[in-house]
Amino acid sequence: MNQQELLDFDRAHIWHPYAPMPADYTPYPVVSADGVYLDFMDGRRVIDGMASWWSAIHGYNHPRLNQAAHHQIDTLSHVMFGGLTHQPAVELSQRLINLTPERLDHVFLSDSGSVSVEVALKMAMQYWQAKQQPEKNRFLALRGGYHGDTFGAMSVCDPVNGMHHLFQQVLPQHLFIERPSISFHQPWQDNADETIKQMIAQHHTSLAAVIIEPIVQGAGGMWFYHPQYLKTLREQCNKYNILLIADEIATGFGRCGNMFACEYAGITPDLLCLGKALTGGYLSLAATITRKDIAETMSNSEAGCFMHGPTFMANPLACAIACASIDELLQSDWRTNVARIEAQLKSKLGTCREFSTVEDVRVLGAIGVIEMKQPLEVPTIQAKLVAQGVWCRPFGKLLYTMPAYSMDNNELDQLTRAMVTAVKP
Ligand SMILES: *Cc1c(COP(=O)(O)O)cnc(C)c1O
Repeated sequence: MNQQELLDFDRAHIWHPYAPMPADYTPYPVVSADGVYLDFMDGRRVIDGMASWWSAIHGYNHPRLNQAAHHQIDTLSHVMFGGLTHQPAVELSQRLINLTPERLDHVFLSDSGSVSVEVALKMAMQYWQAKQQPEKNRFLALRGGYHGDTFGAMSVCDPVNGMHHLFQQVLPQHLFIERPSISFHQPWQDNADETIKQMIAQHHTSLAAVIIEPIVQGAGGMWFYHPQYLKTLREQCNKYNILLIADEIATGFGRCGNMFACEYAGITPDLLCLGKALTGGYLSLAATITRKDIAETMSNSEAGCFMHGPTFMANPLACAIACASIDELLQSDWRTNVARIEAQLKSKLGTCREFSTVEDVRVLGAIGVIEMKQPLEVPTIQAKLVAQGVWCRPFGKLLYTMPAYSMDNNELDQLTRAMVTAVKP
Protein backbone atom coordinates (compact mmCIF):
# COMPACT_ATOMS: atom_id res chain seq x y z
CA MET A 1 0.00 0.00 0.00
CA ASN A 2 1.43 3.37 -0.89
CA GLN A 3 1.04 6.40 1.33
CA GLN A 4 -1.95 7.82 -0.54
CA GLU A 5 -3.88 4.53 -0.48
CA LEU A 6 -3.20 4.20 3.22
CA LEU A 7 -4.39 7.72 3.93
CA ASP A 8 -7.48 7.33 1.77
CA PHE A 9 -8.57 4.20 3.61
CA ASP A 10 -7.76 5.73 6.99
CA ARG A 11 -9.79 8.81 6.21
CA ALA A 12 -12.78 6.84 4.98
CA HIS A 13 -12.96 4.17 7.69
CA ILE A 14 -10.90 4.71 10.84
CA TRP A 15 -11.61 6.86 13.86
CA HIS A 16 -8.86 8.91 15.46
CA PRO A 17 -8.97 10.32 19.01
CA TYR A 18 -11.59 13.05 19.39
CA ALA A 19 -11.89 13.36 15.61
CA PRO A 20 -14.89 13.64 13.30
CA MET A 21 -15.68 11.28 10.42
CA PRO A 22 -14.43 11.92 7.85
CA ALA A 23 -11.39 13.36 9.60
CA ASP A 24 -10.80 17.09 9.49
CA TYR A 25 -7.03 16.67 9.25
CA THR A 26 -4.57 14.31 7.61
CA PRO A 27 -2.56 12.18 10.03
CA TYR A 28 1.12 11.51 9.44
CA PRO A 29 1.78 7.83 8.69
CA VAL A 30 4.54 6.37 10.92
CA VAL A 31 6.48 3.28 9.85
CA SER A 32 8.94 2.83 12.70
CA ALA A 33 10.38 4.48 15.77
CA ASP A 34 13.74 4.33 17.47
CA GLY A 35 15.02 6.17 20.54
CA VAL A 36 13.31 9.56 20.55
CA TYR A 37 12.67 9.52 16.78
CA LEU A 38 9.59 8.68 14.73
CA ASP A 39 10.07 7.68 11.08
CA PHE A 40 7.35 8.87 8.75
CA MET A 41 6.35 6.93 5.65
CA ASP A 42 7.55 9.72 3.37
CA GLY A 43 11.08 9.33 4.76
CA ARG A 44 11.00 12.23 7.21
CA ARG A 45 12.33 11.69 10.72
CA VAL A 46 11.02 13.73 13.65
CA ILE A 47 11.91 14.05 17.33
CA ASP A 48 8.98 12.92 19.43
CA GLY A 49 8.12 15.49 22.09
CA MET A 50 5.05 13.61 23.32
CA ALA A 51 6.50 10.20 24.28
CA SER A 52 3.24 8.82 22.88
CA TRP A 53 1.15 10.63 25.50
CA TRP A 54 3.45 10.28 28.52
CA SER A 55 4.15 6.60 28.02
CA ALA A 56 7.40 5.95 26.08
CA ILE A 57 9.69 7.11 28.89
CA HIS A 58 12.76 5.16 27.74
CA GLY A 59 12.32 5.92 24.04
CA TYR A 60 11.21 3.54 21.28
CA ASN A 61 12.66 0.21 20.17
CA HIS A 62 14.44 -0.18 23.49
CA PRO A 63 16.72 -3.26 23.60
CA ARG A 64 15.76 -4.29 27.14
CA LEU A 65 12.03 -3.93 26.58
CA ASN A 66 12.28 -5.62 23.19
CA GLN A 67 14.09 -8.55 24.76
CA ALA A 68 11.47 -8.93 27.48
CA ALA A 69 8.73 -8.85 24.82
CA HIS A 70 10.47 -11.43 22.61
CA HIS A 71 11.11 -13.74 25.54
CA GLN A 72 7.54 -13.52 26.81
CA ILE A 73 5.87 -13.88 23.41
CA ASP A 74 7.77 -17.11 22.83
CA THR A 75 6.66 -18.42 26.24
CA LEU A 76 3.13 -17.19 26.99
CA SER A 77 1.55 -14.13 25.34
CA HIS A 78 -1.78 -14.43 27.06
CA VAL A 79 -3.89 -16.63 29.25
CA MET A 80 -7.07 -15.89 31.19
CA PHE A 81 -6.51 -14.74 34.80
CA GLY A 82 -9.61 -16.40 36.25
CA GLY A 83 -8.39 -19.47 38.15
CA LEU A 84 -4.88 -19.14 36.71
CA THR A 85 -1.83 -17.07 37.57
CA HIS A 86 1.66 -16.54 36.18
CA GLN A 87 5.10 -15.20 36.94
CA PRO A 88 4.84 -11.91 34.98
CA ALA A 89 1.78 -10.85 37.04
CA VAL A 90 3.44 -11.82 40.31
CA GLU A 91 6.73 -10.16 39.44
CA LEU A 92 5.05 -6.98 38.32
CA SER A 93 2.86 -6.80 41.42
CA GLN A 94 5.93 -7.29 43.63
CA ARG A 95 7.64 -4.41 41.88
CA LEU A 96 4.59 -2.16 42.15
CA ILE A 97 4.18 -2.92 45.85
CA ASN A 98 7.85 -2.13 46.47
CA LEU A 99 7.72 1.07 44.48
CA THR A 100 4.54 2.54 45.98
CA PRO A 101 3.97 3.70 49.60
CA GLU A 102 4.12 1.02 52.26
CA ARG A 103 0.48 0.18 52.86
CA LEU A 104 -0.52 0.00 49.19
CA ASP A 105 -0.06 -3.72 48.64
CA HIS A 106 -3.16 -5.14 46.90
CA VAL A 107 -2.93 -4.91 43.11
CA PHE A 108 -5.71 -5.06 40.49
CA LEU A 109 -4.30 -5.24 36.95
CA SER A 110 -6.47 -4.05 34.08
CA ASP A 111 -6.13 -3.06 30.45
CA SER A 112 -6.16 0.72 30.37
CA GLY A 113 -6.03 3.84 32.49
CA SER A 114 -9.75 4.51 32.18
CA VAL A 115 -10.52 1.00 33.38
CA SER A 116 -8.17 1.39 36.37
CA VAL A 117 -10.20 4.49 37.30
CA GLU A 118 -13.48 2.56 36.92
CA VAL A 119 -11.99 -0.07 39.20
CA ALA A 120 -11.00 2.51 41.83
CA LEU A 121 -14.48 4.11 41.76
CA LYS A 122 -16.20 0.73 42.02
CA MET A 123 -13.89 -0.31 44.85
CA ALA A 124 -14.76 2.85 46.78
CA MET A 125 -18.49 2.20 46.28
CA GLN A 126 -18.26 -1.45 47.30
CA TYR A 127 -16.15 -0.49 50.33
CA TRP A 128 -18.84 1.79 51.74
CA GLN A 129 -21.58 -0.70 50.95
CA ALA A 130 -19.65 -3.31 52.89
CA LYS A 131 -19.31 -0.81 55.74
CA GLN A 132 -23.11 -0.49 55.80
CA GLN A 133 -22.87 3.12 54.63
CA PRO A 134 -24.38 2.89 51.14
CA GLU A 135 -25.32 6.58 51.29
CA LYS A 136 -21.62 7.33 50.73
CA ASN A 137 -21.91 6.95 46.98
CA ARG A 138 -20.78 10.19 45.36
CA PHE A 139 -17.38 11.42 44.29
CA LEU A 140 -15.76 14.81 44.61
CA ALA A 141 -13.46 15.81 41.75
CA LEU A 142 -11.58 18.90 40.61
CA ARG A 143 -12.55 21.07 37.69
CA GLY A 144 -9.91 20.82 35.00
CA GLY A 145 -9.37 17.15 35.86
CA TYR A 146 -9.11 14.28 33.41
CA HIS A 147 -9.57 10.64 34.38
CA GLY A 148 -10.44 8.84 31.15
CA ASP A 149 -13.24 8.38 28.65
CA THR A 150 -15.37 5.51 29.96
CA PHE A 151 -18.61 6.42 31.76
CA GLY A 152 -17.42 6.28 35.36
CA ALA A 153 -14.15 8.02 34.54
CA MET A 154 -15.92 10.58 32.37
CA SER A 155 -18.33 11.41 35.21
CA VAL A 156 -15.39 12.72 37.29
CA CYS A 157 -13.67 14.58 34.41
CA ASP A 158 -14.10 18.34 34.10
CA PRO A 159 -17.82 18.78 33.33
CA VAL A 160 -17.15 21.33 30.56
CA ASN A 161 -14.07 19.85 28.85
CA GLY A 162 -15.63 16.42 29.35
CA MET A 163 -18.87 17.57 27.69
CA HIS A 164 -21.06 16.14 30.42
CA HIS A 165 -24.17 17.72 28.88
CA LEU A 166 -23.96 15.24 25.97
CA PHE A 167 -24.51 12.33 28.33
CA GLN A 168 -26.52 14.07 31.02
CA GLN A 169 -29.29 11.46 31.09
CA VAL A 170 -27.01 8.60 32.03
CA LEU A 171 -24.01 10.21 33.76
CA PRO A 172 -24.00 10.03 37.54
CA GLN A 173 -23.94 13.53 39.04
CA HIS A 174 -20.87 14.07 41.16
CA LEU A 175 -19.49 17.10 42.98
CA PHE A 176 -16.93 19.47 41.52
CA ILE A 177 -14.70 22.11 42.97
CA GLU A 178 -12.59 24.76 41.25
CA ARG A 179 -9.08 23.60 40.39
CA PRO A 180 -6.49 24.58 43.05
CA SER A 181 -5.69 28.27 42.55
CA ILE A 182 -2.11 28.32 43.87
CA SER A 183 0.34 26.93 41.37
CA PHE A 184 3.19 24.58 42.22
CA HIS A 185 5.81 27.32 42.28
CA GLN A 186 3.80 30.09 43.99
CA PRO A 187 3.95 30.65 47.75
CA TRP A 188 1.08 29.00 49.60
CA GLN A 189 -1.63 31.23 51.08
CA ASP A 190 -3.28 30.17 54.28
CA ASN A 191 -6.87 30.44 53.10
CA ALA A 192 -6.33 28.82 49.69
CA ASP A 193 -7.84 25.55 50.91
CA GLU A 194 -10.92 27.06 52.55
CA THR A 195 -13.33 26.12 49.76
CA ILE A 196 -12.26 22.50 49.68
CA LYS A 197 -12.55 22.28 53.47
CA GLN A 198 -16.05 23.76 53.36
CA MET A 199 -17.12 21.53 50.50
CA ILE A 200 -15.99 18.38 52.30
CA ALA A 201 -17.49 19.46 55.62
CA GLN A 202 -20.80 20.08 53.89
CA HIS A 203 -21.00 16.89 51.80
CA HIS A 204 -18.96 14.26 53.63
CA THR A 205 -21.92 12.07 54.56
CA SER A 206 -22.62 11.39 50.87
CA LEU A 207 -18.98 11.19 49.71
CA ALA A 208 -17.38 7.82 48.95
CA ALA A 209 -14.12 9.32 47.75
CA VAL A 210 -12.26 12.32 46.43
CA ILE A 211 -10.50 11.64 43.12
CA ILE A 212 -7.61 13.81 41.95
CA GLU A 213 -4.59 13.91 39.71
CA PRO A 214 -1.89 14.77 42.24
CA ILE A 215 0.14 17.97 41.50
CA VAL A 216 -0.25 17.84 37.70
CA GLN A 217 -3.64 18.08 36.04
CA GLY A 218 -2.83 16.67 32.62
CA ALA A 219 -5.23 16.48 29.67
CA GLY A 220 -7.66 18.85 31.41
CA GLY A 221 -5.32 21.84 31.14
CA MET A 222 -1.72 20.98 32.13
CA TRP A 223 -1.99 22.82 35.44
CA PHE A 224 0.60 22.30 38.23
CA TYR A 225 -0.74 23.00 41.71
CA HIS A 226 0.66 23.42 45.19
CA PRO A 227 1.48 20.32 47.29
CA GLN A 228 -0.16 21.90 50.36
CA TYR A 229 -3.51 21.45 48.60
CA LEU A 230 -2.92 17.70 48.52
CA LYS A 231 -1.91 17.69 52.18
CA THR A 232 -5.14 19.46 53.09
CA LEU A 233 -7.14 16.98 51.04
CA ARG A 234 -5.50 14.06 52.83
CA GLU A 235 -6.20 15.62 56.24
CA GLN A 236 -9.83 16.34 55.38
CA CYS A 237 -10.40 12.86 53.96
CA ASN A 238 -9.01 11.39 57.19
CA LYS A 239 -11.06 13.71 59.33
CA TYR A 240 -14.36 12.92 57.60
CA ASN A 241 -13.82 9.28 56.62
CA ILE A 242 -13.58 9.70 52.86
CA LEU A 243 -11.32 7.65 50.60
CA LEU A 244 -8.70 9.46 48.54
CA ILE A 245 -8.08 8.19 45.01
CA ALA A 246 -4.85 9.39 43.37
CA ASP A 247 -4.87 9.10 39.59
CA GLU A 248 -1.15 8.95 38.80
CA ILE A 249 -1.72 7.51 35.33
CA ALA A 250 0.10 10.48 33.77
CA THR A 251 2.34 11.57 36.65
CA GLY A 252 3.68 8.19 37.80
CA PHE A 253 7.10 6.70 37.10
CA GLY A 254 9.22 9.81 37.52
CA ARG A 255 7.56 12.23 35.12
CA CYS A 256 7.26 15.15 37.53
CA GLY A 257 10.61 14.73 39.29
CA ASN A 258 9.58 12.23 41.97
CA MET A 259 8.69 8.62 41.31
CA PHE A 260 5.09 9.60 42.15
CA ALA A 261 3.60 13.08 42.37
CA CYS A 262 2.05 12.33 45.79
CA GLU A 263 5.60 12.36 47.20
CA TYR A 264 5.67 16.15 46.84
CA ALA A 265 3.03 16.30 49.57
CA GLY A 266 4.27 13.29 51.51
CA ILE A 267 0.83 11.71 51.37
CA THR A 268 -0.41 8.19 50.67
CA PRO A 269 -3.72 7.77 48.85
CA ASP A 270 -6.15 4.97 49.72
CA LEU A 271 -6.35 3.92 46.09
CA LEU A 272 -3.72 4.59 43.44
CA CYS A 273 -4.21 4.33 39.66
CA LEU A 274 -1.23 3.74 37.38
CA GLY A 275 -1.05 3.35 33.61
CA LYS A 276 0.54 5.12 30.64
CA ALA A 277 4.31 4.74 31.36
CA LEU A 278 3.74 1.41 33.14
CA THR A 279 4.87 -0.62 30.11
CA GLY A 280 7.29 2.02 28.83
CA GLY A 281 4.81 2.75 26.04
CA TYR A 282 4.77 -0.77 24.58
CA LEU A 283 1.33 -2.10 25.45
CA SER A 284 -1.83 -1.06 27.21
CA LEU A 285 -1.79 -2.00 30.90
CA ALA A 286 -2.93 -0.33 34.11
CA ALA A 287 -3.08 -1.02 37.82
CA THR A 288 -5.25 0.01 40.75
CA ILE A 289 -3.46 -0.49 44.05
CA THR A 290 -5.05 -0.35 47.47
CA ARG A 291 -4.66 -1.45 51.09
CA LYS A 292 -5.36 -4.80 52.70
CA ASP A 293 -8.14 -3.49 54.94
CA ILE A 294 -9.98 -1.94 51.98
CA ALA A 295 -9.60 -5.08 49.89
CA GLU A 296 -10.75 -7.33 52.73
CA THR A 297 -13.68 -5.12 53.71
CA MET A 298 -14.98 -5.23 50.13
CA SER A 299 -14.57 -8.98 50.02
CA ASN A 300 -16.63 -9.36 53.20
CA SER A 301 -19.55 -7.57 51.60
CA GLU A 302 -22.78 -9.01 50.24
CA ALA A 303 -21.10 -9.47 46.84
CA GLY A 304 -18.35 -11.53 48.48
CA CYS A 305 -15.75 -10.25 46.05
CA PHE A 306 -14.75 -7.28 43.97
CA MET A 307 -17.02 -7.27 40.93
CA HIS A 308 -14.63 -6.83 38.02
CA GLY A 309 -12.56 -9.10 35.77
CA PRO A 310 -11.44 -8.02 32.30
CA THR A 311 -10.73 -10.63 29.61
CA PHE A 312 -7.16 -9.41 29.25
CA MET A 313 -6.56 -8.89 32.98
CA ALA A 314 -2.85 -9.16 33.85
CA ASN A 315 -1.88 -9.91 30.25
CA PRO A 316 1.50 -11.70 30.64
CA LEU A 317 3.13 -9.97 27.67
CA ALA A 318 2.25 -6.52 29.00
CA CYS A 319 3.28 -7.51 32.56
CA ALA A 320 6.68 -8.83 31.41
CA ILE A 321 7.39 -5.63 29.50
CA ALA A 322 6.24 -3.55 32.49
CA CYS A 323 8.74 -5.42 34.70
CA ALA A 324 11.53 -4.65 32.23
CA SER A 325 10.46 -1.01 32.03
CA ILE A 326 10.46 -0.60 35.82
CA ASP A 327 13.86 -2.33 36.11
CA GLU A 328 15.26 -0.08 33.39
CA LEU A 329 13.89 2.99 35.19
CA LEU A 330 15.31 2.01 38.57
CA GLN A 331 18.72 1.18 37.14
CA SER A 332 18.87 4.38 35.10
CA ASP A 333 19.72 7.79 36.43
CA TRP A 334 16.15 8.98 35.86
CA ARG A 335 16.21 11.60 38.61
CA THR A 336 19.24 13.33 37.09
CA ASN A 337 17.76 13.03 33.62
CA VAL A 338 14.41 14.48 34.60
CA ALA A 339 16.15 17.34 36.44
CA ARG A 340 18.35 17.98 33.39
CA ILE A 341 15.31 18.08 31.11
CA GLU A 342 13.48 20.35 33.56
CA ALA A 343 16.37 22.85 33.59
CA GLN A 344 16.55 22.89 29.78
CA LEU A 345 12.80 23.25 29.34
CA LYS A 346 12.77 26.13 31.83
CA SER A 347 15.51 28.08 30.11
CA LYS A 348 14.55 27.35 26.48
CA LEU A 349 10.75 27.55 26.63
CA GLY A 350 10.99 30.46 29.07
CA THR A 351 12.02 32.72 26.19
CA CYS A 352 8.48 32.77 24.81
CA ARG A 353 7.13 34.46 27.93
CA GLU A 354 7.87 37.77 26.23
CA PHE A 355 5.66 36.97 23.19
CA SER A 356 2.48 39.05 23.27
CA THR A 357 0.43 35.95 22.35
CA VAL A 358 1.73 33.82 25.21
CA GLU A 359 -0.19 33.67 28.50
CA ASP A 360 2.14 31.50 30.55
CA VAL A 361 5.07 29.10 30.36
CA ARG A 362 5.33 26.41 33.03
CA VAL A 363 7.67 23.53 33.61
CA LEU A 364 7.69 20.75 36.18
CA GLY A 365 9.96 17.71 35.92
CA ALA A 366 10.01 16.49 32.33
CA ILE A 367 6.84 18.41 31.41
CA GLY A 368 6.98 21.73 29.55
CA VAL A 369 3.90 23.81 28.70
CA ILE A 370 3.37 26.94 26.63
CA GLU A 371 -0.10 28.37 27.25
CA MET A 372 -1.33 30.79 24.60
CA LYS A 373 -3.91 33.52 25.02
CA GLN A 374 -5.96 32.12 22.12
CA PRO A 375 -6.57 28.55 20.97
CA LEU A 376 -3.93 27.23 18.58
CA GLU A 377 -4.77 26.14 15.10
CA VAL A 378 -3.62 22.56 15.38
CA PRO A 379 -2.87 21.61 11.74
CA THR A 380 -0.90 24.84 11.16
CA ILE A 381 1.20 24.50 14.31
CA GLN A 382 1.69 20.80 13.66
CA ALA A 383 2.96 21.47 10.12
CA LYS A 384 5.38 24.12 11.43
CA LEU A 385 6.75 21.70 14.00
CA VAL A 386 7.10 18.82 11.55
CA ALA A 387 8.91 21.11 9.10
CA GLN A 388 11.46 21.62 11.87
CA GLY A 389 11.76 17.90 12.52
CA VAL A 390 9.63 17.78 15.67
CA TRP A 391 6.44 16.00 16.73
CA CYS A 392 4.14 17.63 19.29
CA ARG A 393 0.38 17.67 19.30
CA PRO A 394 -1.12 20.83 20.76
CA PHE A 395 -4.64 21.05 22.12
CA GLY A 396 -6.72 24.11 22.90
CA LYS A 397 -4.42 26.91 24.01
CA LEU A 398 -1.61 24.55 24.93
CA LEU A 399 1.55 23.50 23.18
CA TYR A 400 3.35 21.10 25.49
CA THR A 401 5.99 18.42 25.66
CA MET A 402 6.77 15.44 27.88
CA PRO A 403 9.78 13.83 26.23
CA ALA A 404 11.40 10.46 26.92
CA TYR A 405 13.84 10.76 29.85
CA SER A 406 16.55 9.53 27.49
CA MET A 407 16.30 12.58 25.21
CA ASP A 408 19.76 14.18 24.99
CA ASN A 409 20.51 17.89 25.18
CA ASN A 410 20.90 18.39 21.42
CA GLU A 411 17.58 16.70 20.72
CA LEU A 412 15.95 18.74 23.47
CA ASP A 413 17.43 21.86 21.98
CA GLN A 414 15.90 21.08 18.58
CA LEU A 415 12.57 20.25 20.21
CA THR A 416 12.33 23.45 22.27
CA ARG A 417 13.57 25.66 19.43
CA ALA A 418 10.86 24.26 17.15
CA MET A 419 8.19 24.85 19.81
CA VAL A 420 9.28 28.45 20.37
CA THR A 421 9.42 29.12 16.62
CA ALA A 422 6.00 27.55 16.07
CA VAL A 423 4.27 29.95 18.50
CA LYS A 424 6.30 33.04 17.59
CA PRO A 425 3.90 35.81 16.58
C1 LIG B 1 -4.57 9.14 30.09
C2 LIG B 1 -5.18 9.28 31.42
C3 LIG B 1 -6.26 8.45 31.81
C4 LIG B 1 -6.90 7.45 30.89
O1 LIG B 1 -6.04 6.43 30.52
P1 LIG B 1 -6.35 5.58 29.18
O2 LIG B 1 -5.27 4.55 29.15
O3 LIG B 1 -6.29 6.54 28.04
O4 LIG B 1 -7.69 4.98 29.35
C5 LIG B 1 -6.76 8.62 33.09
N1 LIG B 1 -6.23 9.53 33.94
C6 LIG B 1 -5.21 10.32 33.60
C7 LIG B 1 -4.65 11.28 34.58
C8 LIG B 1 -4.66 10.23 32.31
O5 LIG B 1 -3.65 11.05 31.98
